[in-house]
Amino acid sequence: MAESVSYNPREVAVQQLVETAKRIEVSESIVEKLKHPKRILEVSIPTRMDDGSFRVFTGYRVQHNMERGPAKGGIRYHPQVTMDEVVALAMWMTWKCAVVNIPYGGAKGGVVCNPKEMSLGELERMTRRFTSELIGFIGPEIDIPAPDVYTNPQVMAWIVDTYSMNKGYLVPAVVTGKPVELGGSLGRNEATGRGCAFVAREALKTQGMDINGATVAVQGFGNAGSVAARVLNEMGAKIIAVSDSRGGIYCEAGFDAVAAIKHKADTGAVSGFEGSDEISNEELLGVECDVLIPAALENTITADNAAAVGAKIIAEAANGPTTPEAQAILDDKGVFVVPDILANAGGVTVSYFEWVQGSQMLFWTEEEVNSRLEGIMVRSYNEVVAEAERDSCNMRDAAFNVAVGRVAKAVELRGIYP
Ligand code: NAD
Repeated sequence: MAESVSYNPREVAVQQLVETAKRIEVSESIVEKLKHPKRILEVSIPTRMDDGSFRVFTGYRVQHNMERGPAKGGIRYHPQVTMDEVVALAMWMTWKCAVVNIPYGGAKGGVVCNPKEMSLGELERMTRRFTSELIGFIGPEIDIPAPDVYTNPQVMAWIVDTYSMNKGYLVPAVVTGKPVELGGSLGRNEATGRGCAFVAREALKTQGMDINGATVAVQGFGNAGSVAARVLNEMGAKIIAVSDSRGGIYCEAGFDAVAAIKHKADTGAVSGFEGSDEISNEELLGVECDVLIPAALENTITADNAAAVGAKIIAEAANGPTTPEAQAILDDKGVFVVPDILANAGGVTVSYFEWVQGSQMLFWTEEEVNSRLEGIMVRSYNEVVAEAERDSCNMRDAAFNVAVGRVAKAVELRGIYP
């Protein structure tokens, strides 16, 4: 495992591509093509503020690859958004969609702003102007945005409305992560956590462990982490530790995930949950357990703490929770890591279902969504396991092999136009 020489996210993403291409012998010209995003759009977004003045925000939309289908990826509103970050995130979306084999390429967008300091009206006007600037570049057949950091279903609803007003008819499939009342999919909110639970269950199986009574620790008890915990609990696993930004709780005998979710909803934190002991986030990573689910932030498992990880399996619900140096330490310890691009792909998979439903105006039941999600997650997991065996590599390298291999094959088959 090569160490990352740089933490510029775009350089890291390119380096990952180059290393994968070497392993699976992709031609240099195809690698060169995949190093470069297909399209980078930078727009200025003049926005009328509540006090009557206007400010000009900068927005980006990057479409990394559209060889296998329209580009797909979220839009984030954050003061630290940079073009390089958006490019890297778009590239990772290409691989994530390819590893679960849904017919999408990768995209990402961002606006440099601080949404916490903006009113709802200001956010709406900024979103509508950003959408207008993107009108020719997004759409159900071109590029389909979704929520990301500090954007939500309401922001998606404004994008649907702005896009649809310009077209003259309702186009729900222009974004995913919409409110259900506007064509959002049932099961979308839970999809990332549920998908992660499916791969954790499969990982227990391939590692020869029984899910009944398997012990689980979850770092980050938010949307993805709490759903993963609840679904694994329903499958028979024992949740023994969870944490959020304020600290963690531990109970060797296991506790009811639904009760812990209620406690957090009532009090704002997991700590103080009846019958549990308080632990720190660092201690949670060291808890002896069968499955650890990092579901908070990136770079949580590092060279400093990887040796102390007490889990046999890690299923990465968060994006980028394990640094390359930590991965090497976990490999040496024999920890089986299901990487983020596979373990958290449930979200984009149900986004794909939302787009299919919106394109057909035919909506599925939640059971249908969940069962199709399970089918895709289990199939993808098995394909990555088979690749790890074939290439004698870890699951992260195997997932990149599968993903980059699929995209490279599509590029090769289509050829270079003209
Ligand atoms: P969220 O905001 O709902 O939850 C994050 C949780 O992490 C919160 O409970 C927060 O208190 C906790 N947290 C923050 N800092 C922490 C720390 N230092 N230690 C422990 N806990 C901490 O966010 P989410 O949507 O669940 O996303 C979590 C991760 O999953 C992110 O990395 C995100 O990129 C990734 N992800 C989410 C989705 C999705 O559909 N929600 C899809 C793909 C990937």
